[in-house]
Amino acid sequence: MPELPEVETVRRGLLPRLVDRKIVRLQQRRRDLRVPLPQRFASRVEGRTVLGIDRRAKYLLIRLDDGQTLIVHLGMSGRMTLHDARSAAQHPLERHDHVVFEIEDGWQVRFNDARRFGLMLLARSETVADHKLFKDLGPEPLDPAFDGPALAGRLEGRRTSIKAALLDQRTLVGIGNIYACEALFLAGISPRRSAHTVQGERADRLIAALKQVLLRSIDDGGSTLRDHVQPGGELGYFQTRFNVYDRAGAVCPTRGCGHAVKRLVQSGRSTFYCTRCQR
Ligand SMILES: [Zn+2]
Repeated sequence: MPELPEVETVRRGLLPRLVDRKIVRLQQRRRDLRVPLPQRFASRVEGRTVLGIDRRAKYLLIRLDDGQTLIVHLGMSGRMTLHDARSAAQHPLERHDHVVFEIEDGWQVRFNDARRFGLMLLARSETVADHKLFKDLGPEPLDPAFDGPALAGRLEGRRTSIKAALLDQRTLVGIGNIYACEALFLAGISPRRSAHTVQGERADRLIAALKQVLLRSIDDGGSTLRDHVQPGGELGYFQTRFNVYDRAGAVCPTRGCGHAVKRLVQSGRSTFYCTRCQR
């Protein structure tokens, strides 16, 4: 499933191809993804110029020049592929390429989603912040204003585990299972610790670790973009090396620790951590 760094990498990959460019044609190859695609989708998007692409949580917000915003979520399996005219000719449309944006300079953006949990909606740009998808969401972890005291404030009084609180999009957005495990490891905080006890210096360490794991992963994605000559022009998927995630039984990477990484199930999700380094 695409996580925040993947979505951010897709955004950065689309920027140079879409911004200040006109969408000349939209091919809609089915009526719905998770929900129906917008009514009269093609006629509402064709001829529009893209003003900018923002991201909120794991949603891409593609702002058009007529005051509409196209809200895109990649769901579980959504992928964006980018093709110039030659690449488009070499790569015929695939079965799950559901929406194809043709850009004025001949580039194509294809949205492929085998499992169809993705979403595309059109909304008036000025109403997006209050849209039901966004109004209950917590802050962005990479917002410089979201610091230790701000995180501590959102954890105050919370009796769930810190791991569960991090996955809750009302605490903060965009922290999936992988990044929660990795950040708790870097911060030396046990995933089982009660969320309300993560205050003061501990909260400072945790927010720094969250930002660090996300930024490192976005950097890894950026390096795949720089040489994104891979066939198919796929954006946004890449391999990052993890310290504890999915490494049960491996030796803890902390020098001198020597303990094995443990796996634990919390609210149905696997947690990976070191019982010695994380308290
Ligand atoms: Zn350890």
